[in-house]
Amino acid sequence: MPTDWGTTTVTLLQELIRKPTVNRGTQGEDDGHEHLCARLLADFARDRGLEPKIFAKVKNRENMVVRLKGNGKKAPLLLNAHTDVVEVDESRWQRPPFAGDIHDGYVWGRGAIDMKHMAAMSMTVLARLVDEKVELDRDIIFAAVADEEAGCTLGSTYLVDEHPEEVRAEYMLGEVGAFSLNLMGKVFYPIQVAEKGVVWTRATFHGSPGHGSMPDPNGAVVRLAEAIARLGKKRLPMHPHPVVEAFVQKLSSALPFPQKQALSRLTTPQIAGLILDYLVKDPDQRRSFGAMLANTASPTVVRAGNKVNVIPGRASVEIDGRTIPGQSDLAFLSELREVLGPDAEIEVLHKLPSVETDATTPLYGHLEAMLRKHDPLGEPLPYMVVGFTDAKAYARLGTHCYGFTPLKFDPTHEISFQKMYHGHDERVPVEGLTWGSNVLYDTVRSFCESREPTERA
Ligand SMILES: [Zn+2]
Repeated sequence: MPTDWGTTTVTLLQELIRKPTVNRGTQGEDDGHEHLCARLLADFARDRGLEPKIFAKVKNRENMVVRLKGNGKKAPLLLNAHTDVVEVDESRWQRPPFAGDIHDGYVWGRGAIDMKHMAAMSMTVLARLVDEKVELDRDIIFAAVADEEAGCTLGSTYLVDEHPEEVRAEYMLGEVGAFSLNLMGKVFYPIQVAEKGVVWTRATFHGSPGHGSMPDPNGAVVRLAEAIARLGKKRLPMHPHPVVEAFVQKLSSALPFPQKQALSRLTTPQIAGLILDYLVKDPDQRRSFGAMLANTASPTVVRAGNKVNVIPGRASVEIDGRTIPGQSDLAFLSELREVLGPDAEIEVLHKLPSVETDATTPLYGHLEAMLRKHDPLGEPLPYMVVGFTDAKAYARLGTHCYGFTPLKFDPTHEISFQKMYHGHDERVPVEGLTWGSNVLYDTVRSFCESREPTERA
């Protein structure tokens, strides 16, 4: 009986979800436990005659890399999925987050969307290519990496730094894209071609320490609180990037009047703020568009004082800064300074560069064509991600990185990719996953298959 590859993907995803690879960000060996997924995938690969390799910078934080050899006429294609997941608040879930059960047509569990589904689909693609004895012009590498959720240090960054030959490729397919976005009766498929940079900072305010019995309106805590309030309410200047302009124009052109009119003017910096505040009604959409159009700065960790009756002499906030590709760190820091005021002491804690990938490569055109083939009503469009992904590491090897993990959501359901991402009740539709697995297979096969098969013995 022929293999049902959709079922293979679904079953593998269930097994991966049952490994609770929660990354708390400590980078220690008692965190993440991605070896559970790495070994599961390695066993799966070995059973199909492949030779997986395991690499780890820290015990238990394993990365699995497996290569399906081609004839070497062209440079490799890399499929990438991170196997760590974010934490869960189990009390907010309707179903156990690590059971991987199927209910109401969905596979439930942490990692279903972000992004064990891609690990299951990629592994299935390799198994199917082996099974169907497809001759390839290029190697296809699948990397299942650790530690993405905490900044990629033990995963893609480690592989690129310490084992670059294992993952060097012309192209990479990974987070984030090719999921169906149902908007006002239309279906879009965003494909990531850019992602924002990271500039994490700490701002510290100093003041005179004193006794809590005599309040000080200029105390460090008060001035910190005022600065945080300004930062929280203020939108930094708009810098629409060409990818975002194209995204917004393509999105708006498919919408009816008057949404079409309103949305298309989002890329006019002078009025974008007004459009966001008064015409984009959905608060999630407002935040999402806002983050695409400007550098952003979110106050996250606040530290001040340790005794209730002592006014502390210093108070600080850590700020998660994200920069539009093409915007320098200095330009962002001066925007931040403008809001925080001259007496904030600002230090940079951590930086990651933004990523931009050429959307005119043969693969990009192929990705669009494949999505159109498998959903003739859908409209693919280039997309900039406001978070970060493993693309940051692979881009350093000169790899063209695209967000392409195909998934289809039922437009009649309330469940969407965005709502599921790091959300409670994370789940993925069985039918949409089966569809996605097949789209990924078709995409990879038709791009990598040898056009002039050599004689087989
Ligand atoms: Zn992710």
